[in-house]
Amino acid sequence: MLQQVNGHSSVSDAQGGESFREDLQEFLSGEAPLHQLDDLTKVNPVTLETVLRCLQARYMADTFYTNAGCTLVALNPFKPVPQLYSPELMREYHAAPQPQKLKPHIFTVGEQTYRNVKSLIEPVNQSIIVSGESGAGKTWTSRCLMKFYAVVAASPTSWDSHKIAERIEQRILNSNPVMEAFGNACTLRNNNSSRFGKFIQLQLNSAQQMTGAAVQTYLLEKTRVACQASSERNFHIFYQMCKGASADERLQWHLPKGAAFSWLPNSERTLEEDCFEVTREAMLHLGIETPTQNNVFKVLAGLLHLGNIRFADSEDEAQPCQLMDDAKCSVRTSALLLLLPEDPLLETLRIRTIRAGRQQQVFRKPCSRAECDTRRDCLAKLVYSRLFDWLVSVINSSICADPSSWSTFIGLLDVYGFESFPHNSLEQLCINYANEKLQQHFVAHYLRAQQECRLNRPSSAAQLQTRIESALAGRPCLGHNKLSREPSFIVVHYAGPVRYHTAGLVEKNKDPIPPELTRLLQQSQDPVLKVLFPTDPEEKSQEEQGQSRAPVLTVVSKFKASLEQLLQVLHRTTPHYIRCIKPNGQGQAQTFLREEVLSQLEACGLVETIHISAAGFPIRVSHQNFVERYELLRRLRPRTSPGPCSLSLDEGRSEWSPHTEEAALQPLLQDILRTLPALTQAAAIP
Ligand code: ATP
Ligand code: MG
Repeated sequence: MLQQVNGHSSVSDAQGGESFREDLQEFLSGEAPLHQLDDLTKVNPVTLETVLRCLQARYMADTFYTNAGCTLVALNPFKPVPQLYSPELMREYHAAPQPQKLKPHIFTVGEQTYRNVKSLIEPVNQSIIVSGESGAGKTWTSRCLMKFYAVVAASPTSWDSHKIAERIEQRILNSNPVMEAFGNACTLRNNNSSRFGKFIQLQLNSAQQMTGAAVQTYLLEKTRVACQASSERNFHIFYQMCKGASADERLQWHLPKGAAFSWLPNSERTLEEDCFEVTREAMLHLGIETPTQNNVFKVLAGLLHLGNIRFADSEDEAQPCQLMDDAKCSVRTSALLLLLPEDPLLETLRIRTIRAGRQQQVFRKPCSRAECDTRRDCLAKLVYSRLFDWLVSVINSSICADPSSWSTFIGLLDVYGFESFPHNSLEQLCINYANEKLQQHFVAHYLRAQQECRLNRPSSAAQLQTRIESALAGRPCLGHNKLSREPSFIVVHYAGPVRYHTAGLVEKNKDPIPPELTRLLQQSQDPVLKVLFPTDPEEKSQEEQGQSRAPVLTVVSKFKASLEQLLQVLHRTTPHYIRCIKPNGQGQAQTFLREEVLSQLEACGLVETIHISAAGFPIRVSHQNFVERYELLRRLRPRTSPGPCSLSLDEGRSEWSPHTEEAALQPLLQDILRTLPALTQAAAIP
C-alpha cells in the first residue's frame, strides 16, 4: 500500500505499517482493496479524499483507467505500457459480449461508441470528448482510439490516386504525425504539446467500416512561430528539418549544419518527436509528393532566415530603420527561399503605406524599429498559419470519404485543457472559454438529464437542483485586482479563477495584418505561396477604386463561431467523456503527487459527476425503442434470492446491464418504466 512522504508516494513505501493497517481494515470490513475498485461510484463515501486515494492506489498498482459513472478517468502512466494498447487487446474488447465488464479502458469507450453507431434500433452519431490539462494524455488517448477504430472498423483495401494499395485507415493515422509536426511543440508542460484544438470525424458506412475522416482544427498558436517562451521551442517541424535534411537539402534550403536561428531556441535538445523521416513518409502517404514537400520546407527555411533579420533604431524618424550588419544576408536568403523580390520585402517590413482622403492617396511612413519587428513577425505568422490550414485541407481531401459512402460518424475531440499561467492573455481567454463551453455541454447533457430522471425523488431532487443551478448559473464572474499594477481582470471559471492581462488584448483580438504584407506575398513565384496567397482580382480592383474591403473578423468572433459550430455537432451526438489526469508535472512514472491530482479533480468537478452518476440512471433511449427492445425482459421470472440492487443503463448503448441478480430485474424494470416519460423528456434536452 501507499504512504505519503511530502506529498509524494512511491512503491518503495509499500511495506509500511500504514499499509498493514489499511489491509487489515479492508479485510475486516470485507471491502475490496481500493486499487481493485473499477468504478469510483463504488468508493464509500465519495469524497475528494477517497477518490484521490483510490486513484492513487490504482496508479501505483499500474492500473491507469477507472470509471467514474459516465466518465472514464485516464491517468497518464508516463512510461511505455505496450501490452495495454496491443491489437490483441483491442480485439478482445471488440469481441467481448459485454466490454463494460472488462477492466476499464479507453477501448471500452471505443467499443461502446462503435456499437452505438451500429445499433439498428437507434443509430446515432457518437462523440468522445477527451479533456485534461496539458501533458495529461489527450492526444495520446485520441491517437490510441484512432488506432482502435483502424483495427476494428477496417475497410476493404482502397486505392489512392497513384494506384498504390493504401488502406484508408492507415492514411487517416498518417494525418497524426503530419499535424503534430506542424502543430505541436515542446513546452514547459509537455514535450509534445498540441498547440491547436482538433475534432476528427471518423466516417463509417452502413457495414460499420471506416471509409474516411474529416479534421477540423481550432486556434493554432501561430505566435509561437516568431516568439517562444524561454525553455520552450518552436513547432517540431523546424527542428525536424534542421536535424534531418540531407546534405543536398541543406544546400537548397540554406541550412548549414550548426546554423543559428533566433526562432529556433533550444535546438540542442533532441526529442523523440524530431523525426523528419516519419513526417515526410506520412506526407507522402497523404498524397503530398516530394517536390511539393520540398517547396513547403523551402518556405519554412525562408521563415527561419526571416527571423534573423534585425533592425537598428533610426536616428531620423523620416528615414527607414537600418538593417543590423549581419541582417543583410538574412534578407537576401529569406527573399531567395520565399521567391520574393528582395527590395520590396525589405521595404514592406520597414515602410507602412496608408491610404487616406477621398482620392485614396497613398502615404508612406517609415516604421519604428519595434514596428518593423512586429511586421516581420506578422509576415511569418501569416505564412505559417495559412500553411497549416492548407495542410489540413490537403489532409482532408486525402482522407475525406465521399458523402454517399458514409452514414454515421464517431467524433474525437482533443482540445487544449484549462490554462492558468502567471501571465494570461487572449489565447488563454479563448482556450478557457472553450473549456467553459464544453463543461457546460457536459453539465447540460448529463447533469440536467439526471435532474429529470430524479423527478420522483423530491427530497434529494431539491438538493440536486441547488447544485445544478449553481453549476449552470456558472457564468464567469468578473473582477479585478485593485492591488495589481498591471491592468488585468479576473474571470472565475468553473475550474478556478484566472487573471487575464489586458495589455495587448484588444490588438491581439484584431490581429491586424497590414495589407502590404499580403500584397507582397501575392508577388511570390513560389508554387506553395502562390496557393496560399492567390491574387483576388476583385479585391484588387476594389482597392484601386478606393472601396473599403469586407470587415475583418476578430480572433474571438471567429473562434466563437467555430466553437458554436462544434457544439452544434456535439449536441447532435451521444457524447462520451474521457478525463485525462496528469499524476505529476515532471512526467515521471510511478509518481503520484496528491496536490497536483487534487487540483485537476477539482477543476473538472469529478466528485460531483460521481455523485450524480451514482444516483441516477444515465440513459438516452426513447420510450418506444426501449419497450420494443426489452419487451422480452418482462417475461423473465425472477429467482427468489434477494440482494442489493443497482441497475446501470449504459449511456447511449440502448442496452442495460444489471449489476445484481435477476431477482432485481422485475421491480426495477417496473420502476424504470414508470420513470420513462421523464427519461424520454430528458433525452430530448439538447
Ligand atoms: P497538450 O494539451 O499539451 O497537447 P496532451 O494532454 O495532449 O497535452 P499528450 O501529448 O497526449 O498530452 O501526452 C503527454 C505525454 O505523456 C506523451 O507524449 C507520452 O509521453 C505520455 N503519455 C500520455 N498517455 C500515455 C499512455 N497512455 N501511455 C504512455 N505514455 C503516455
Ligand atoms: Mg495534445
